Amino acid sequence: MLDGLTAWLRAAAARIHDEAKALTVLDQQIGDGDHGINMDRGFAAIVAMLDAREAPADGTTDTAASADLLRQAGKTLISTVGGASGPLYGTAFLRGAAALAGEHPSPAAAFVAGLEAAAGGIAGLGKAAEGEKTMLDALFPAARAARAALDGGGDLKAVTAAARDAAAEGAKATIPLLATKGRASYLGERSIGHQDPGATSSALLLETLAATAAES
Ligand code: ADP
Ligand code: MG
Repeated sequence: MLDGLTAWLRAAAARIHDEAKALTVLDQQIGDGDHGINMDRGFAAIVAMLDAREAPADGTTDTAASADLLRQAGKTLISTVGGASGPLYGTAFLRGAAALAGEHPSPAAAFVAGLEAAAGGIAGLGKAAEGEKTMLDALFPAARAARAALDGGGDLKAVTAAARDAAAEGAKATIPLLATKGRASYLGERSIGHQDPGATSSALLLETLAATAAES
């Protein structure tokens, strides 16, 4: 799991870098135009953390090392990203790490537990719910779809693909929504008609995760 997570974080950083301009354009429409810059800065710092990271000490389990890596990634996002998305994604990673550290019958089950915890962590910190035009509109549908795929007997490849598809659909479905949380809420009715940047970056992260799982 540690190798997969590392590969995902590196691939996610590359994808976020490629999409930084597009994310910023979305944030220019309903925010302050920094979401791509924020995410790119945070994930570049994660890559630097990965490059500097030493191999886990002898005797460390793969689960413990994986949870620790996600925790470090979360702390990195919190300390390097100034916008709302830094603490929100950072908390998501910390919660995901805590869930991952538990006992799970399979990698697919570990992922679903991690994603549910991550979405719940953002909802708690952001005092937000689904339908408010935020990253949660990608992440909660993704978690539900992943859980359904797992219940249907899906493996890691299947559950991450289900999460990817639901997140992409959820991000698109933010377009007609009225923003009631974050900077976009300052626009009121004018927030309608634009896709939420955070939901878009969440969908990108899950797309990269599914691609990484499909390759392994
Ligand atoms: P900032 O809004 O500080 O400029 P970013 O531009 O990096 O930060 O991130 C904006 C994204 O953060 C939004 O598109 C939305 O998805 C998400 N967001 C903002 N506020 C909240 C909140 N209270 N709960 C959940 N997500 C939020
Ligand atoms: Mg912004």
